[in-house]
Amino acid sequence: MALIVQKYGGTSVGSPERIERVAEKVLETTRQGHQVVVVVSAMSGETDRLLDLAHRIDPQAGGRELDVLLSTGEQVTIALLAMALHRRGCPAVSYTGAQVHILTDSAHNKARIREIDGARVRRDLEAGRVVVVAGFQGVDEHGNITTLGRGGSDTTAVALAAALGADECQIYTDVDGVYTTDPRIEPRARRLDRITFEEMLEMASLGSKVLQIRAVEFAGKYDVPLRVLSSFEEGPGTLITYEADQMEQALISGIAFNRDEAQLTVTGVPDQPGVAARILGPISDANIEVDMIVQNVAADRQTTDFTFTVHRNDYERALEILRRTAEELGARSVEGDPAIVKVSLVGVGMRSHAGIAAEMFRALAEEGINIRMISTSEIKISVVVDEKYLELAVRTLHQAFGLDAEPGEGVA
Ligand code: ADP
Ligand code: ASP
Ligand code: MG
Repeated sequence: MALIVQKYGGTSVGSPERIERVAEKVLETTRQGHQVVVVVSAMSGETDRLLDLAHRIDPQAGGRELDVLLSTGEQVTIALLAMALHRRGCPAVSYTGAQVHILTDSAHNKARIREIDGARVRRDLEAGRVVVVAGFQGVDEHGNITTLGRGGSDTTAVALAAALGADECQIYTDVDGVYTTDPRIEPRARRLDRITFEEMLEMASLGSKVLQIRAVEFAGKYDVPLRVLSSFEEGPGTLITYEADQMEQALISGIAFNRDEAQLTVTGVPDQPGVAARILGPISDANIEVDMIVQNVAADRQTTDFTFTVHRNDYERALEILRRTAEELGARSVEGDPAIVKVSLVGVGMRSHAGIAAEMFRALAEEGINIRMISTSEIKISVVVDEKYLELAVRTLHQAFGLDAEPGEGVA
């Protein structure tokens, strides 16, 4: 008998019929003799609908009250799933995050889980019940409802699996595993049988929204066996593993992309020590996170151009701050472009291979795609390109690095 945590995402619980199917799958797992904890998301589109409602009342809505609102989506699905299980004669009980003591910090809308008290869940499991827990939500030390950021139900599932010492955490979604890239962009993307935690973490950080970053971090840290599977079809899915020797080492495991960034440039800044700090200081004081940074000294060696990227939601604010700083510094101009994307190659195989960057740049150049920024780390290379090139860049690299599926092997 194993203890299994199963998480079903928004599409998987998107209608009453789909909730019935989830109930069947859960029942099937209990019939195999396993104990099951189920974590569910809100029905697809529900969190967006709630966000839209909030923004119609207050375009700046956020913080505590937004969490009170957003957490209701998941509360609907836990109750419906528990009812569907009851109808099938399966003892089940639904709980909100607070009811199973998912204690978080107080950073509303992006809270982090600090601690989970698994005692109540364990008691139910021992009494033969299926436990259905609302994803994406917790409670802070003052009893306020918190939410964990978009996609946060993944993290609830992994954190529960860690707290309960589960044998496996299964993430059921609308694709049958982790692919070499988002199959919505590249139909020739291939499902990976395995991917390392390290690579998955990079993929998630660089924009692949198939798993929330925090979920992968948790799974890596607490050694939770994690698998991504389809709710709609049978199959082995993708196992997230530690780097195993016998693992066939592909050079590149996947391609991630992020459309959420925007680029800002200040040109003709007097090239003096402390300039970077003076440019980025006010940005970080405004709580705006900076991702990529490039600084170039102009040919005259007197001035420098400074470029960086921020989240697209912060673009207007960052631009305004930068204009003020530029004036203080006596810079020549401030330019901005929100229509950019970051495309990244990820693979642990990069460590032992030189020349990947050159190959990447050559492939992009052959398609006439101009690279605006570059950044690298041990297992990834990212480039910023115009948004209009997103699909072309992803497909070009997918093919150039031999990731395309064989005919008949692609997405069903
Ligand atoms: P859920 O609602 O089940 O949490 P998500 O929409 O959050 O589902 O995540 C699944 C989606 O992630 C897929 O439909 C797919 O378009 C997208 N995705 C992005 N990158 C990848 C990838 N590398 N492999 C698989 N899916 C990916
Ligand atoms: N319902 C939340 C969202 O849409 C959390 C999740 O689905 O994981 O982001
Ligand atoms: Mg998700």
